[in-house]
Amino acid sequence: MSSSTGPVPAATPALPGAGKPARKLLIRTWGCQMNVYDSGRMADILAPLGYAPTESAEEADMVILNTCHIREKASEKVFSDLGRLRETKKARAAEGRQTVIAVAGCVAQAEGAEITARAPWVDIVLGPQTYHRLPEMVARASRAAGAVIETDFPAEDKFDHLPEARATQGPVAFLTIQEGCDKFCSFCVVPYTRGAEFSRPAAAVLAEARQLAAGGAREIALLGQNVNAWAGASQDGGTWRLARLLRELAEIPGVARLRYTTSHPRDMDDDLIAAHGEIPALMPYLHLPVQSGSDRVLAAMNRGHKADLYLRLADRLREARPDLALTSDFIVGHPGETAADFDATMRLVERVGFAGAYSFKYSARPGTPAAGQPNAVPEAEKDARLQALQSVLRAQQDGFNRACVGRVVDVLVTGTGRHPGQVAGRSPWLQPVHATGAAPVGAVVPMTLRAALPNSLSATMASPCQETEESAAA
Ligand code: SAM
Ligand code: SF4
Repeated sequence: MSSSTGPVPAATPALPGAGKPARKLLIRTWGCQMNVYDSGRMADILAPLGYAPTESAEEADMVILNTCHIREKASEKVFSDLGRLRETKKARAAEGRQTVIAVAGCVAQAEGAEITARAPWVDIVLGPQTYHRLPEMVARASRAAGAVIETDFPAEDKFDHLPEARATQGPVAFLTIQEGCDKFCSFCVVPYTRGAEFSRPAAAVLAEARQLAAGGAREIALLGQNVNAWAGASQDGGTWRLARLLRELAEIPGVARLRYTTSHPRDMDDDLIAAHGEIPALMPYLHLPVQSGSDRVLAAMNRGHKADLYLRLADRLREARPDLALTSDFIVGHPGETAADFDATMRLVERVGFAGAYSFKYSARPGTPAAGQPNAVPEAEKDARLQALQSVLRAQQDGFNRACVGRVVDVLVTGTGRHPGQVAGRSPWLQPVHATGAAPVGAVVPMTLRAALPNSLSATMASPCQETEESAAA
């Protein structure tokens, strides 16, 4: 597993509204899965205006860059893309074609009018909380001389203003249940770009999940910046926590698999840990970022827990679900991190054993508490620490993948494989799998994992009488 800074493949937008002139929409998405979800919803909102998807900037009447502000590199990439789009917009204008350029997401939220000052050819700047107002902004942008900028946190709930019908997603769907963050880690922009923690009501989440299942989704990944802090109003006037929601979602016909991401160690409650052993549809995989193994650095990061809490959680989760794969996020070189602190991180990694991880060099983000601290770690030292950490994490991931070889497991078929006569799918541990043979998209098929390749596992279809580990355990 590697870091996620590049543009992610475009979400599949809905078909345009009947009878509207065909216009083309290109959405480029950076950053987390929540941005992928948001891009899909923006496509849903624009479909009734006649926008159909395209991958080509030259043919796009509207381009949305859905951006990520989490590290400096991710933000800067947006401006290089905008530079290229300026030329495309000019060339299209010379042919009498209009191009609306919008910057959405966290860079838009953080930089607002700065974006149009730096790139005056941008027509719309919209924060993550205002994309339900896109149709109105597009109309205003086509009329107005200047750019339309909407980066407030409106009082209305954006989820109440999104169209109910969602584009067909295929067998794997994302569902945002929680947004924002009140934790204010020293290094992180999320509380400033996504606002205060907000949990969608249980009924709205269940309704969207039913709709996704009816549209063919077999695996649903619940999303939130702090997804396990979800505390949603229930219809009986109470509040449910995530474990209860997962139990209800598992009952929806067609839902074969559930996941949730991203979680905070502080919010792993007893019921949620137990749920990992009790809900067969909940996949044996958990992304639980720890960031550092040093209590001193964790305190400086304002993470609100010690390394020992993380180690105890890992043990308890594995007691509840022995085949659970844990993955994590790490930051090296937070201001004040010493060689001894970094050693503590390496010890934690060795003790836990991860199936994958994202690891980053600390990147100072304007306006965050850590950015103003004087005790920066030299860049060369950060590089060396990152290399050392990644080499251990890579070895652990390879070891985990190799240990899967020979197992018979359920694979969710997601499409055709790279070579003719192959299907592609994903294992319970989120590994990409390629197998020779035929099976319909959306089927959960028993397969024998045969070899661990650099980025995937190869497999063969198991014989019908062979039991998978999942069916044997059920
Ligand atoms: N809410 C999640 C949590 O608390 O673990 C993390 C969400 S954040 C969008 C994803 C990851 O980006 C973080 O876990 C962290 O490792 C990394 N990250 C965030 N800010 C960063 C920064 N300033 N420099 C480097 N990495 C950063
Ligand atoms: Fe950022 Fe910390 Fe909130 Fe995660 S918990 S989103 S790292 S402030």
